[in-house]
Amino acid sequence: MNVLIVFAHPDPRSLNAALRDAAVAELEAQGHTVRVSDLYAMNWKTTVDHADFPSLGEGERLKVAAASGAAFAADALTDDVKAEQEKLLWADTLILQFPLWWFTMPAILKGWVDRVYAYGLAYGVGEHSDRRWGDRYGEGRFAGKRAMLVVTTGGWAEHYAPRGINGPIDDLLFPINHGILHYPGYDVLPPFVAYRVDRFDEAGFTRAAEGLRERMRTLETTAPIPFRRQNGGDYAIPSLELRPELEAPGASGFALHRT
Ligand SMILES: Cc1cc2nc3c(=O)[nH]c(=O)nc-3n(C[C@H](O)[C@H](O)[C@H](O)COP(=O)(O)OP(=O)(O)OC[C@H]3O[C@@H](n4cnc5c(N)ncnc54)[C@H](O)[C@@H]3O)c2cc1C
Repeated sequence: MNVLIVFAHPDPRSLNAALRDAAVAELEAQGHTVRVSDLYAMNWKTTVDHADFPSLGEGERLKVAAASGAAFAADALTDDVKAEQEKLLWADTLILQFPLWWFTMPAILKGWVDRVYAYGLAYGVGEHSDRRWGDRYGEGRFAGKRAMLVVTTGGWAEHYAPRGINGPIDDLLFPINHGILHYPGYDVLPPFVAYRVDRFDEAGFTRAAEGLRERMRTLETTAPIPFRRQNGGDYAIPSLELRPELEAPGASGFALHRT
């Protein structure tokens, strides 16, 4: 299997880097081929702007989705973006690894998503009609591939439990798991989260690294999060509301979108 790890931590001596190295070694030991996009090491350009669309005239108004679609169709995106898109198409499994910063991914990784997920690749795909609303949420360019988050947090597991003050971890990661990964088609595996890492001792690191190795060993067999498919009949089109009869008693918010 081909595995792409998109890695967002500024320090090569960090805990995240050590966990990444453990994951890469385990994947390679299992016979997988691994590529890593180390965004800080690559000096990844984080913001979307005019420079991303070289064929756009100077002074021409930038409408990002339209420019993205035209440049993607014409193979006219910048080389750094095209290289990442080639890796995405190559990979059977995508892993996004990052420390939780302000309840989400570091800006550099969000900037990777903003720039690499072009219109025509990750969105704006498929038929829009009274039966279908594009190829999204379980369908799309990355359907049939797997994806997974590897996350470290300063907060304790309890802080991210269903009644924890930070909010449940599945809710916090929903916009990434559902909105960034399931949206363009990935089957999304439950995340690997290492909690309370800032004071990790050697034993804490060993436990976390072993947990991550185990997740790497089971990458091909772990059941994905059972997100509903958009065009499978669960949602009314075009309102895209879940059909009320499918609602589990007491369920609301993000939980509605899992079977
Ligand atoms: C801007 C910002 C926002 C943040 N927001 C949040 C938030 O919203 N929620 C939250 O919960 N946390 C938050 N944090 C905390 C953050 O998630 C953690 O600091 C981060 O996950 C730690 O990962 P790291 O790779 O930077 O760890 P490091 O600082 O590199 O390492 C952490 C500890 O692990 C140990 N260690 C590292 N490498 C090894 C090794 N190879 N072997 C053994 N032990 C090792 C060391 O003891 C070290 O002190 C935030 C931090 C910042 C800077």
